[in-house]
Amino acid sequence: MHQLTLAEIARGLADKKFSSEELTRALLARIHQLDPQINSFISVTDELAISQARAADARRAAGESGALLGAPIGHKDLFCTQGIRTSCASKMLDNFKAPYDATVVSKLAEAGTVTLGKTNMDEFAMGSANESSYYGPVKNPWNFEHVPGGSSGGSAAAVAARLLPAATATDTGGSIRQPAALTSLTGLKPTYGRVSRWGMIAYASSLDQAGPLARTAEDCALLLQGMAGFDAKDSTSIDEPVPDYSASLNASLEGLRIGLPKEYFGAGLDPRIADLVQASVKELEKLGAVVKEISLPNMQHAIPAYYVIAPAEASSNLSRFDGVRFGYRCENPVDLTDLYKRSRGEGFGAEVQRRIMVGAYALSAGYYDAYYLQAQKIRRLIKNDFMAAFNDIDVILGPTTPNLAWKIGAKNNDPVAEYLEDVYTITANLAGLPGLSMPAGFVDGLPVGVQLLAPYFHEGRLLNVAHRYQQVTDWHTRAPNGF
Ligand code: GLN
Repeated sequence: MHQLTLAEIARGLADKKFSSEELTRALLARIHQLDPQINSFISVTDELAISQARAADARRAAGESGALLGAPIGHKDLFCTQGIRTSCASKMLDNFKAPYDATVVSKLAEAGTVTLGKTNMDEFAMGSANESSYYGPVKNPWNFEHVPGGSSGGSAAAVAARLLPAATATDTGGSIRQPAALTSLTGLKPTYGRVSRWGMIAYASSLDQAGPLARTAEDCALLLQGMAGFDAKDSTSIDEPVPDYSASLNASLEGLRIGLPKEYFGAGLDPRIADLVQASVKELEKLGAVVKEISLPNMQHAIPAYYVIAPAEASSNLSRFDGVRFGYRCENPVDLTDLYKRSRGEGFGAEVQRRIMVGAYALSAGYYDAYYLQAQKIRRLIKNDFMAAFNDIDVILGPTTPNLAWKIGAKNNDPVAEYLEDVYTITANLAGLPGLSMPAGFVDGLPVGVQLLAPYFHEGRLLNVAHRYQQVTDWHTRAPNGF
């Protein structure tokens, strides 16, 4: 049963081939058996899962239907879950039980999903390798010596290892698309404002966006349907109608205009990844797409701008963790300053502390204009580049990552080397655009992803292109050895 996609599960439940409780028990047993090798879960919520599965079975028995009714999923451990530890993979929140559910969690629960657990991640979603978790690194199911990507590495590894059909994740600079690429999954970062951020522990509020990680575009459509929509509790949520994402999956690609940014294919890109990206373009051309070269001239400034803006926002967001109101408090503080200093010094890991320092520096009087303001101006230029490009194309296509999944520990002494891995993903966050990564092949047994970007609120177009591609390719159906 663990090989079933969300769409297949929906059919199986509707046809009474199995119950949600049977499926849930089978997957929980699989998680307990296999996850110790991968470390993709921080908490497994057996009791909650069984009770939600029984409730979903009862709703079906009473005549209700719905694609997500009884579907088992996992939530990245930065979505607040009432009464359940919500740690953000930090010692700071190791003892934190959220008093309420995030909007994403409550919407999906209403749709009938079953929460099997909370997935591992980089501490406070800062990272591209899932090595900075307080609960230890996550291993890539395709090769245990390699990272699964981050920060949503737990959600990705769990889905890739067939412990779950799908999971929620978040993307501030690539944390859905990059782990999707490195574990051979489909992952979608929606338009900023499409999915509510309420109850999602904030990293960089102007960049954070939640979305689905699954094996297929079809499953991403189902999960996104349950997550998207206006939420008055999130002031940046946008009140746009949510289209039926499954309905447009099969639309023809005849005449679809694909733009290939020339800046994407220069030095720094592994040529074996470039070859697979070109092969995916050929497949899409066979389906009727037309390809043209475009230019995104300010792309080279994206990493420096992002690594000022994201830490700046993080330094402000993480000031709430002071040892008084939430989470970790140091032992025997001698006074208030000691309490603050030691609670934060002992509760946050090294990368989080680095970001807070960089961010506080960039925002400080005297440096604000030189760093933060400059970065905001670059952000606007990057957005303008995209707006100009989308005047004559429908989607942008390129690699999701410049390199294959690297070995665990390989970049530990060089944070900037890890930051550079985000070069293709962070521009979509800076501009607020939707982006998707889909499996496009393997090099040395390690997965490669192709990224698609579209204009605002065109998630349906991304899912459509990926779905049509997945009908003529089988990369997304392959499973890692032993899973
Ligand atoms: N790797 C990026 C960072 O460390 C993005 C992380 C994310 O998207 N949450 O900030």
